[in-house]
Amino acid sequence: MANAASTTDAAALERMHELYLEGGRQRGMAPHIVYQDGKCPHEGCQQSLQAIDFRLEAFGRTVHDPLVRAWWAETGFAGRCPNCGGWIHFTVRGKRAITEDEAATLPQLPENWADEAVIL
Ligand SMILES: [Zn+2]
Repeated sequence: MANAASTTDAAALERMHELYLEGGRQRGMAPHIVYQDGKCPHEGCQQSLQAIDFRLEAFGRTVHDPLVRAWWAETGFAGRCPNCGGWIHFTVRGKRAITEDEAATLPQLPENWADEAVIL
């Protein structure tokens, strides 16, 4: 019974997640996110990256549009940590430390993204 209940919960959560993505996609909503882990994913870095409003509109449509599409398609995008300079892959579901080679395969934030973003 416990297993059945947790499976149902997971399915309900997944369904909620899908609805959230669908709504964001349809409205082209600006990516902002609150992550469960509060810091930069690179080891030893104390940069706070809990809540991020990327404010991509500050960079114009040619930057904004493809990155917003990548965000809601769950591809996400890569950007450098403003403190340690390490590459980070940001998605709706989480953020992780990646190498420069991995970052090269992803849509990328502008170099100065952290100057425009609101980071808490
Ligand atoms: Zn960092």
